[in-house]
Parts: sequence; structure tokens; C-alpha cells
Amino acid sequence: MKKIFCDIKKCMHCRRCELACYIKNADVRDIFEAVKLAEPPVKNIELIQMSDNSMPFICRQCDEPLCVDACISGALYIDKKLNYVCLDKTKCVGCWSCIMRCPHGSIRVSKHTALKCDNCVSKEKPECVNACPTGALALNEND
Ligand code: SF4
Ligand code: SF4
Repeated sequence: MKKIFCDIKKCMHCRRCELACYIKNADVRDIFEAVKLAEPPVKNIELIQMSDNSMPFICRQCDEPLCVDACISGALYIDKKLNYVCLDKTKCVGCWSCIMRCPHGSIRVSKHTALKCDNCVSKEKPECVNACPTGALALNEND
């Protein structure tokens, strides 16, 4: 599966990746429109500041995803064609079993359903990767 990787030596903690994810999830043009929404948008990437550098927490597109195992309604599944762990929000019943099982803390709650990174499958490259000014983030095939 393709995964978003981070070269932590290149990350300067500018948080543009988080901003790009907010805007994409809100389906608006920019952050000014996003902050005006009644319900604030949710991001799928979270930059954690460590002692010497920063590390983004994002869905690892696990080969054996515990979130899919845990999902009681079939909302989370592996799309064999895309080869991604995907979420069908229309099937989500909001039980949060996936949140409890994901070892990477990669699932959020948005408008009473689960929300997870889908590597921006509808786009050529994930928005966070596009937004990163130093090239620290990249979508690659292998671990
Ligand atoms: S949501 Fe969590 S368990 Fe599911 S594929 Fe992503 S990192 Fe793995
Ligand atoms: S919260 Fe939704 S996606 Fe997560 S396990 Fe429950 S039904 Fe599945």
C-alpha cells in the first residue's frame, strides 16, 4: 500500500500540512472560509513536537489494519482496487471501535462519524504532501 512518509530531518514544524488537511476536509477554498464554518473542520494529520524534531501522526495504511477488524458495520474496508484502507461514512454507526483499536491514533470524529486519511485518493497527490514546503512529506509505496 502507498503510505505518507516523513523525513523528520526536513520537517521545520510549519504545520502547513495540518492546514491543508483542514481545508480539504472542510471542502472550502482557504483557511478563512474554514474558520467561518459552524462546525470546525477536523484534520487527519497531527504534527507532534518532540525534543529535537517534529513527527506527523497520520494513518499508516497498515497491511493488516486493526481498524478494519474492529469495524462492526463494514464501514472500514480495504479497497482492493485502490489498495487502501478506506472508510464509507454512510455505513458508519459511530461506535468508535476503530478509534479504540487503531494503534496510531489515526481516526478522528467528524459530524458523528469516523474520519480517516484516504491519501486524498481523488487527487494526484495528498494535500499535505503538496503543501509541505521542504519536501519532508512524500507518498511512497514501501516502508
Ligand atoms: S486507521 Fe489506524 S489501524 Fe487503520 S490503517 Fe490507519 S493506522 Fe492502521
Ligand atoms: S465508528 Fe464507524 S467506522 Fe469506526 S468501527 Fe464504528 S462503525 Fe466502523
